[in-house]
Amino acid sequence: MTEDRVDVLVAGAGLCGLSAAVACARRSRVVVLEAAGHVGGKAASRRRDGYTFDCTGHWLHLRSDRVRSFVFEHLPPDRWVTIERRAAVYVAGVDVPYPFQTNLGALPGELVRACLTDFVQARIDDARAGAPPATFEEFILRRFGRSMAEIFFVPYNEKLWDRPLRELTAAWMGRFLPDPTVDQVVAGALGVSSAPVGYNATFLYPKAGGIGALAEALARALGPARVRTNTALTAVDPLARRARAADGTEYRYDRLIATVPLPSLVAMCEGAPAEVRDAAAALCAVDWHYLDVALRVPPRRPEHWIYVPDRDLPFFRVGSYSNAHPPLVPEGRGSLYVELADRARPHDPAAVAEGLVRVGMIASPADIAFVERRRIPGAYVVFDDRWGPARDTVFAYLRRHDIEARGRYGRWTYNSMEDCIADGLDAAEED
Ligand SMILES: Cc1cc2nc3c(=O)[nH]c(=O)nc-3n(C[C@H](O)[C@H](O)[C@H](O)COP(=O)(O)OP(=O)(O)OC[C@H]3O[C@@H](n4cnc5c(N)ncnc54)[C@H](O)[C@@H]3O)c2cc1C
Repeated sequence: MTEDRVDVLVAGAGLCGLSAAVACARRSRVVVLEAAGHVGGKAASRRRDGYTFDCTGHWLHLRSDRVRSFVFEHLPPDRWVTIERRAAVYVAGVDVPYPFQTNLGALPGELVRACLTDFVQARIDDARAGAPPATFEEFILRRFGRSMAEIFFVPYNEKLWDRPLRELTAAWMGRFLPDPTVDQVVAGALGVSSAPVGYNATFLYPKAGGIGALAEALARALGPARVRTNTALTAVDPLARRARAADGTEYRYDRLIATVPLPSLVAMCEGAPAEVRDAAAALCAVDWHYLDVALRVPPRRPEHWIYVPDRDLPFFRVGSYSNAHPPLVPEGRGSLYVELADRARPHDPAAVAEGLVRVGMIASPADIAFVERRRIPGAYVVFDDRWGPARDTVFAYLRRHDIEARGRYGRWTYNSMEDCIADGLDAAEED
């Protein structure tokens, strides 16, 4: 068995782990262990036959100057394009620009009236209500009213989360669900144009290499000696500050920054008490099943992504990598990602192709060159009643043993690439 002595051991070479490692490496000896054969985690890209695919749409929204300068230090500004969001909701055969709630004017008149009446009533009732909404379903009803809930929010989110919304809390949303003013909703219903609403109205994307280009640049800055791919962290002895990797190497560390999923981190911790293991077992996430679709021609629709609440269609969102950035495909071609609603059964390729024709993304199944089915295990953390207390129990244990759980899955939360980079930089500042 080999032994290695490091100041900082980072588990996971996604954007959080890599950002932490790059920033710590300025003054400490750092090693990053990565289970996969490549870096990037959810923000990795794959290439086939001249097509570049991400793990469904991965668009970089930057609000923080600190993260922007870190990103540009490693992938300079001239290596990015800025893209203005083009997104829509496909509902009952009609295209409503995204965000749905501020573009009601695109709906047939009767639906606009129902949505507006219910919305105004919901806001009046909400203002009078004492307690905050207990479930995600209640949140939607109270913020948007019954008609918007029934037409879009409930069916779309039930397809996405793969469960009734009354089983979820609203804890995950924060800035991610545009919560417009009454004025913005009314203006949208009257077709009075207003500024784009929502956190993702513009985004950045690498000129070459897909979103994975960012993680690859960070890994290059660290150098191959510091980033050990195909080398999972397998065990942690928190009291001795020792960790074992899949290749048998034992690391003695001063700091452990773990960006691996929280339940698997707890499973690796030797001597974790039963109550902590039980809490970790109560944490739950939903898998993502999606299709990367290579097209022989560009998509027929121009959007970067469309939301599909219709329960008769087998997907809840369809996006186009190539509509956002044409160099991701060979010239004159196109590509899609199709996020599947039914995780339990193998998908029916004919039903998906038919659905893509129905929403107008392709003219016919003959447009499809090839399809790859992909899975992202545990892609979205489930915010149910157990989430808060279980997470508190696990974090209290980790804090007692100086194990720093970071990133989207270390923190067991819902967040963005920018949040994860910031989290990694925060970790390094504590070094
Ligand atoms: C479907 C989907 C779409 C998204 N779209 C966007 C978007 O458009 N814009 C945006 O900003 N964000 C988006 N996100 C969020 C974004 O992907 C994440 O916030 C971010 O990439 C998470 O980075 P991370 O480093 O925290 O985790 P990860 O990327 O999951 O990295 C963790 C790493 O740990 C590794 N690992 C796991 N177990 C071990 C082990 N035992 N030992 C060593 N390594 C291990 C994994 O292989 C992985 O590489 C999306 C997420 C999903 C799931």
